[in-house]
Amino acid sequence: MSMFEDIPVDVGVVYEGERIRFKDMQVELGGERTDAKFELVKVKGLDEIEDGKITVVGPDIKDMKEGSTNPFGIYIEVAWKDVEKELEGVIERRIHEYCNFIEGVMHLNQRYDIWLRLSKKSFKKGFNSFHFMGKVLQKLFRSELSFIEKIQITFITKPEEVKKMHGEAMKIYEARDAKARGMKDEEADAFYGCTLCQSFAPTHCCIITPQRYSNCGSISWFDGRASARVDPKGPVFAIEKGECLDPFKGEYKGVNAVMKEKTMGEINRVALYTAFENPHTSCGCFEAVAFYIPEVDGMGIVHRGFKEATVNGLPFSTLADSTAGGRQVEGFHGLSIEYMRSPKLLQVDGGWNRIVWMPATVKERVKDFIPKEMVDKIATENEAKTIDELKAFLKKTEHPVVERWKTLPVEAAPEAEEVEALAQPLEIPISGVPITAGGFEIILKDAKIYARKVIIRRVKK
Ligand code: SF4
Repeated sequence: MSMFEDIPVDVGVVYEGERIRFKDMQVELGGERTDAKFELVKVKGLDEIEDGKITVVGPDIKDMKEGSTNPFGIYIEVAWKDVEKELEGVIERRIHEYCNFIEGVMHLNQRYDIWLRLSKKSFKKGFNSFHFMGKVLQKLFRSELSFIEKIQITFITKPEEVKKMHGEAMKIYEARDAKARGMKDEEADAFYGCTLCQSFAPTHCCIITPQRYSNCGSISWFDGRASARVDPKGPVFAIEKGECLDPFKGEYKGVNAVMKEKTMGEINRVALYTAFENPHTSCGCFEAVAFYIPEVDGMGIVHRGFKEATVNGLPFSTLADSTAGGRQVEGFHGLSIEYMRSPKLLQVDGGWNRIVWMPATVKERVKDFIPKEMVDKIATENEAKTIDELKAFLKKTEHPVVERWKTLPVEAAPEAEEVEALAQPLEIPISGVPITAGGFEIILKDAKIYARKVIIRRVKK
């Protein structure tokens, strides 16, 4: 007898990674079209909750308009004997995985960024209430995390309630994140790894250290430790650091060995504090992207919630596509907001002295962690909307990258197209570079491109 026989659709690992397009969706919950959304887990006392209870505050799925986008919150309360609050973040992150096990349900991102879609097909099969989603989550949580004794779930769709609880949730996330601040990677006895995102990015493995928070921003070093203790064979596991090969870059023998094992030989080296040589891999759940801006030899950062184009004319979604997939793409780096508060943030690349642009909202969130002398030198969309405006701003504020321009041929870059016919064909080795065509991603490994002509064209907006 199936554990899910009272659920009108199928449930299983096979549905993980399923994408639901706009035209195929019955309803959308959260996502960038709505401001208020969250998912939150709280550990409670055994006598504080009612096991198996599912509550829906606001319209249920069947009451929502077909094709509509709705504010959404999932609030899960769990209890067991020896309450250990450190597990809240880890249990919360499993919501992503378990929702994706449901046929026709897509869950992306985490915390205050969640984005879910339900397919028309699953709705027609009878999946028309959050009670079904609640039952699936309760069963999966109980079977996978057997220490949970009681679980009660509330789905919130009433706009004012979502907004209210979203505010509460933000305070709780902040308190969790603040806990590991001040700890140093060098002092940690172990690091933690997470492969939860491998269903979407098969060669991705997060290395979670006190000073390099997970890409999704929802699993701290403490969360990793708590998770590895209760479920050592689960997707979050302990990593023996081994010999430190380079303390400045953050390269460890133990981390390299784990990356090799977890990515089946695809990734062999990881330097934790850089976006360039052997960078940390990027899945697709990252909260923000750090992207290289060659015109100023600096880095921009954009977070998922920023809806305008960035200073180079590209929106978050395009930059995220260039970054994601579990790859190491030099100059495109997935990261969490909390990592921006780390003193090790991209330290190999120059840290805050190399960051030239970021949205005002995210700058405000991390302002206290930016060196004082740099705060006014980093442009936002209010100071620079184009590369030319950015250059002028950086010059005016004497941003440290301006010094680098003297040694780089940035200003000398050609305005017009330069074509060079080559006497000998040029051989360019490429590896792991994806080509997107006709809805497929083709990855060429250990391939070479032969070129008879090189065209260098300045990209104009
Ligand atoms: S982004 Fe990293 S830590 Fe977060 S769920 Fe994915 S693999 Fe785990």
